[in-house]
This record gives sequence, C-alpha cells and structure tokens, in this order.
Amino acid sequence: MALFSHPSFDHHEQIMFVHDEASGLKAIIAVHDTTLGPAVGGCRMWPYESEQDAINDVLRLSRGMTYKNALAGLEFGGGKSVIIGDPKSDKSEALFRAFGRFVDSLGGRYYSAEDVGITTADIMIAHQETPYMAGLEGKSGDPSPYTALGTFLGIKAAVKHQRGIDSLEGIKVAVQGLGHVGFHLCRHLHDAGAKLVVCDLSETQLERARTEFGAEVVALDEIYRQDVDVYAPCALGATINDTTIPQLKATIVAGCANNQLAEPRHGEVLKEKGILYAPDYVINAGGIINVSFERDYNADKAEAKVRKIYDTLLTIFNEADNSGKTTAVVADEMARAIIEKARK
Ligand code: NAD
Repeated sequence: MALFSHPSFDHHEQIMFVHDEASGLKAIIAVHDTTLGPAVGGCRMWPYESEQDAINDVLRLSRGMTYKNALAGLEFGGGKSVIIGDPKSDKSEALFRAFGRFVDSLGGRYYSAEDVGITTADIMIAHQETPYMAGLEGKSGDPSPYTALGTFLGIKAAVKHQRGIDSLEGIKVAVQGLGHVGFHLCRHLHDAGAKLVVCDLSETQLERARTEFGAEVVALDEIYRQDVDVYAPCALGATINDTTIPQLKATIVAGCANNQLAEPRHGEVLKEKGILYAPDYVINAGGIINVSFERDYNADKAEAKVRKIYDTLLTIFNEADNSGKTTAVVADEMARAIIEKARK
C-alpha cells in the first residue's frame, strides 16, 4: 500500500492511523501542512470498501483543505480525518470519545469538525475529550448554510464571467444532491429566479424541492445530460469523469462537493469542451470561513468574508483566460504562492 509515493501524499507532514479496540474505532488523521496555522478540516465517516480507499480519500481531502484555507485567506493549515465505518450503524459515544482523545494527542496541530456522515452532536461528544474541535453547537454551528451561500455566489461569478450577466433569472441549474448544502443552495437559486432540475436518493427531499421551488425531478443518472446552463455537484466526489463529461450540456460546473474531478486531467478535458469549472475547494469554502470566526463569533463578519468567494473566483477565471491554464491549476498555483510567501 503506497503512502510516501501516493499521488496525493504531496509532502504531508503527518499521517496517524488510530485504533481503539473497546469502541471499534478505526480512523486516519492526516495533517498536510501547518505553515499558515493549525491544520483544520472535518472528519468523514464512511463504510470504505478498502483501507486503500480510506487512505486515498483522507490524503486528497487534507491536501485540499490546505489549499482551500489558504485561498480563503484563513490562518489555518490543512488536515482531515476519516473514520472507517457505517454512520448508520457504527456510531457510539465511546467511538467519538476515543476519536476525541486521538485528536487531543496531537496537541492542537489538528482541529476536527463535521463532514459527511458526522453530525454536530458527534463533534460535541468528541469535544468532551479535547478542545481541538470546531463547528460546535452554540458557536458557529452548522457550516452548511454558509457553504451554500458561497456556492450560490460562485455560480453567480461563473455566469458573470461566461455570459457577462449579473442576474440568474431564467438560468437553469441541475443540482445533484439535496442535503445540508444542496437544499439551501436551491433556496438561494430559486429566490434569484433560477430554474431547478434536481436529483437525490431521498424522496422526502425531492418532494420538498418540488413543492417549495417548483423543481423538476430527474433520475440519479440523468442529471448529467440535462439541458441546463450549470451543473452543480452537491453530493459525491469524482462526478466529473470520462463517463459524465461527454454527457454534459451545461457550460458551467459549479457546486459544493469536494474532489469533483475524478483525476486532475479532467480539468483539462472540461476546458477543451468549453466548460467553465469553479474549483471545488474555492467555491465550497463558505463553511470553513464561518468556522474560522468561531472563537469570537460574529455572523456579519463571517458572511462578509464568505462573500469574497465571488471575487476570488472571478480572479481565478480571468487568470485562467489570460494564462491558458485550467481554473484548477490556477487555483492550486495561487494557494501554493500564499503558502510559500508565509514560509519565507
Ligand atoms: P449531505 O450528506 O447532507 O447531503 C448529501 C446529499 O446527497 C444527500 O441528500 C444524499 O441523499 C444525496 N446523494 C447521495 N448520493 C447521491 C447520488 N448518487 N445522487 C444524488 N444525490 C445523492 O452532505 P452535505 O453536507 O450537503 O455536503 C454535500 C457535499 O458538499 C459533500 O461532498 C461535502 O463533502 C461537500 N461539502 C460540504 C460542506 C458543508 O458545509 N456541509 C462544506 C464543504 C464541502
């Protein structure tokens, strides 16, 4: 099992494999880079098919957090953790307490928070064992509405750049996933006059989107070939791949999911097809920006900083046009430049 030579290893400072026999906890905590500050990134719980899948996920996600935090202008490094297990059946107080103790053992080099499969309640249990948890109840709280706001503004920036218009009136958006972020995003889009096509596994969420936003519902695998302006992936990673790209009629890909490109080369394939891609870790930084205000929480200041995602994306789109590089490459280069400057 490759680790130091893994494609996403990318100079990770520390990777910790942790196990607690009593609670059954098996987790990986990855600290990618602490140049800008303590590594901050959520914890994901997922029934990974193999340990290699868990390693792939945590390395890619923690590296992404370094870049996301840098470009969002936060004094945070990047890290992430994954718990190997089924969030529907494998959760217990003992498991999250054990996880909290392992995070605590890093002495503040890594702060965890909620991510897919994890709730704020789980984080509050872990917090009983360590101060190094973020996104706590009664503080900055659920990050999803801020992630949704940033994603909405990212879609606006992409439409502005590509079509030269400030309004989303009549713009058609295919939203894949109506979870914590996707549903809030639909509300913003609907309020702005956009037309929605949606899919999800949950009948309840689909029904809500139909009645509250007049959304058209399509089957899961039909979402890619919809005749829309924007495809907004808000469920899973790696949905931009060799199978889906040929189906896309949208000329903009802008959504909140992490790791949208199955492989880095898919950024180039999108560009060749004339599809404008809003790099995932830039457009979905609203939640972590909100969390960054946790110590002395101020919702107005948090929202003002989330709104800067619009300008950051316009800068990336313009630089990509000027340089001929993909938006993903431009975002990575900008993030690396921020970190290098801080290192010096
Ligand atoms: P969530 O678990 O609340 O929602 C995901 C939704 O996707 C669920 O409603 C689920 O039923 C649906 N779904 C699952 N498989 C699907 C499929 N094949 N097709 C269509 N829908 C499917 O998660 P979330 O918090 O809304 O996050 C969504 C994505 O955004 C994730 O990739 C997450 O990593 C990323 N993200 C979230 C935040 C945040 O603040 N929550 C921040 C940054 C990035």
